[in-house]
This record gives sequence, structure tokens and C-alpha cells, in this order.
Amino acid sequence: LPEQEAFDIEYWLLEEAKLQRLPKSRPLEGRVALVTGGAGGIGLASARRLLGEGACVVICDIDRAALDEAEAALVGSHGRDRVAAFPVDVTDEGSVAALFREAALAFGGLDILVSNAGIASAAPLDETSLELWQRNLDILATGYFLVSREAFRLMKTQSRGGSIVFIASKNALVASPNAAAYCTAKAAEIQLCRCLALEGAPHGIRANVVNPDAVLRGSRIWEGEWRAQRAGAYNVAPNDLDEVYRQRSMLKLNVFPEDIAEAVHFFASELSAKSTGNILNVDAGHAPAFTR
Ligand code: NAD
Repeated sequence: LPEQEAFDIEYWLLEEAKLQRLPKSRPLEGRVALVTGGAGGIGLASARRLLGEGACVVICDIDRAALDEAEAALVGSHGRDRVAAFPVDVTDEGSVAALFREAALAFGGLDILVSNAGIASAAPLDETSLELWQRNLDILATGYFLVSREAFRLMKTQSRGGSIVFIASKNALVASPNAAAYCTAKAAEIQLCRCLALEGAPHGIRANVVNPDAVLRGSRIWEGEWRAQRAGAYNVAPNDLDEVYRQRSMLKLNVFPEDIAEAVHFFASELSAKSTGNILNVDAGHAPAFTR
């Protein structure tokens, strides 16, 4: 090699080696995140992702057994000093207030809320009982309201900004067969998030939405009657649903909890410092929206 070129290569190899030895930067170090519905599925994957970036994470859930199991798993992988878990029912105002009191004390305030706790229950519109309708609205729309209102209050008081991430659904934007109550409740979450973005902006509080399409693996929603319901709506066997959703996507890919967690990390971090009131669909490209 010519002398100068050999020198350049050696120089860059040394620089590269120096970079490798530097401690990996952890962009969320010192931040505190709260993830509702953190005992499984998308919530647990999001908690793992935020922990991986250095945040302290509080998970909460109505299912105490699953919550204990998730907490033990996170403590096992990330240590006791950055993980806490509290039970909550997001439809209960007192329970949510108590959660925020405890969560705020656990690691010193709150910087990131991931509002995710949810259900999915469905029926044809003419068979949708008032109870089913109310259940969807209570857990999804009202649950997201109670949790994000509390986060908003706390973040405002702290005066250090914050990021609120809503896990809504593609069903907030597109109609899905036999899921009117779910689709309506999910659409409400999006408008709530936009209002939060508007009122939060003067305080440096951002609010954004991640819309997953079907995330079958790892989600307990898909272990229940929802799977049979969806299979019936698409006229396929329950075990064929993965393939139905894969084929429906433009990229011909299924979506996993870790894909949603990646979008959560984006909105939670400074990577999205200039995004608020926005929606990111994580759906491998929703082909029906573009084709006839
Ligand atoms: P999941 O059932 O695995 O996790 C949801 C968690 O929420 C559960 O641990 C559950 O116990 C908890 N929860 C339910 N009701 C609660 C309450 N009242 N108070 C506190 N916790 C409660 O399901 P998932 O797939 O991880 O779903 C997470 C979110 O993503 C939900 O809001 C869901 O609507 C949304 N979503 C999921 C999909 C999907 O295909 N999995 C698609 C679009 C949107």
C-alpha cells in the first residue's frame, strides 16, 4: 500500500478500537418510565427495551400473578435497583392515584409513561351488549384518560418535561369486522393523545401514539376468545391467523411485541424530540389501506 494509505487505515483501525472500548451510551439513563399492562405482551417488551436503554422502569398491571412473574424476570435480567412493580386497575381512579404516589417515590418522579394496559373483546354490532361496549370504553378510553391525566399532573409539577406514549391500535384508524366497541375506544385514545400533546407542549411534555397491527405472539389478548372471534370474522382457522395477517401486510411480515417496543423507545427518547401529537403505525404496511 502507498505509505499514506497504510497510515490512514492504521489510524482508522485505532480510532475504531477506541470507540469499541468506550462504554456504550445509555440514552435513557436517569429517566423513570411507567408502563401500564407491563405484566406481559407489548408492555413487558416495552419495559425491557426501556431498561435496556438505561431507564428505571415501573411496571403495573391488574393481574398480580403475571405482574410478580414479570417483575422477577426483569429483576433477573436488569437488577433490583432499576425495576419496581405495583398492582393497579386502570379503570379505578383511586387505584391509579395510589399507583402514581408509589411510582413517583420509587425512583424519583416520572419522565415516560407508556399507556398500554388493555383488552380486546368483540361481537357483531347488533349483538354488542351495553356491558361489552362499556367494558371496552372503561378499560381503553377511560383507563388511558385516568393514567395519562395523572402522569400529566405529575410531569407538570416536576417541570422537567416528559414523554407520554399511547399504545392504541390500527383499529383506531380502520374498521375491523365485529369490533365496533374496541375500534371506537381505540379511536378515542388517539384524540385524547392529541389533546395531551396540545396542552402538554408548553410544559415540554410530548404525547404520541403507536398503532400496532395484529401482534399475535406473546400477547395474552390472542390467547382468549379474541382469537376465535377474529378467526370467525376472517373465516379462517384460529391457527391460520398469523398467516392471514402476514399476507395482508405489504412487507409480508408479522409484527412482534419487540417491534412495538422499538417504536415506544423512539417516542420515549430524544430521538423523537420534535414529534408530538403524532401516530406511528407498526403494521408491516397495511395493504388493504392502499389496494382495492
Ligand atoms: P396482553 O393481554 O398481553 O397485555 C395487556 C395487559 O393489560 C395484561 O397484562 C392485562 O392484565 C393488563 N390489563 C388489562 N386490563 C387492565 C386493567 N383494568 N388495569 C390494569 N391492567 C390491565 O395484550 P397486548 O397485546 O400486549 O396488548 C397491549 C395493548 O396493545 C392493549 O392496549 C391492546 O389493545 C393494544 N394492541 C394490541 C394488539 C395485538 O394484536 N396484540 C394490536 C393493537 C393494539
